[in-house]
Amino acid sequence: MAHVSRESYIHDNLNAVQLRISKACEASGRSASDITLIAVTKNYPASDVQILTDLGLSNFGENRDQEGREKSAVINAHWHFQGQIQSNKIASIASWAQTVHSLDEARHVEKFARAIPSGKKLEVFIQVALDGSPGRGGVGEQSLVQMADLVISFPSLTLKGLMAVAPLGEDPDRAFARLATIHSKFIRKFPDSCALSAGMSLDYESAIAHGATHVRIGSSILGSRTNPL
Ligand SMILES: *Cc1c(COP(=O)(O)O)cnc(C)c1O
Repeated sequence: MAHVSRESYIHDNLNAVQLRISKACEASGRSASDITLIAVTKNYPASDVQILTDLGLSNFGENRDQEGREKSAVINAHWHFQGQIQSNKIASIASWAQTVHSLDEARHVEKFARAIPSGKKLEVFIQVALDGSPGRGGVGEQSLVQMADLVISFPSLTLKGLMAVAPLGEDPDRAFARLATIHSKFIRKFPDSCALSAGMSLDYESAIAHGATHVRIGSSILGSRTNPL
């Protein structure tokens, strides 16, 4: 490892991830072009985002407002926010992120809608809790329709679909099978919101098998974070 450059390390990891994405798509009869790969760059410097940009990636995800704001100021790309939302950061998040994956509180919806500069739109995913544990965020299945109706009532918000994180300690295949059922019911009511943001480094193949359209992958591309979020 000592003589491997950061560029070639990231390049090799990215190739491996993209190959696994293609294979997972093939295995479930899907096209790799259906999948948006979001490189989660939290805790990694803007220089790594630049390397990924040079390798052709254009979607990046961050969990913290300040970090995302700083990197998006130097790298022009499609920026995603997937961290826990704090009310007092909403205006700032809306100023640099084009997509928010972690919307899970009704009181945040109007705040986002009002924070969008006029003429712009913010894409949002509603995060679903697959385990009912508030720790990892998300709304319960029973509140999804109400949240979605609220989101689509604001013209500055575009409801992309649902997002979820597999609960800790549960087989991701079981969790994502449950998510697929929730998602298929959801899109019967909201056919324009058919995206599904699911899958991280350890479970993205399973997420793809269960219909994910957006995978959020950090450590498999950039290495394990010293200060995980
Ligand atoms: C950190 C994070 C990711 C990426 O996780 P990896 O295990 O590094 O791939 C994806 N989604 C969310 C919500 C995260 O917080």
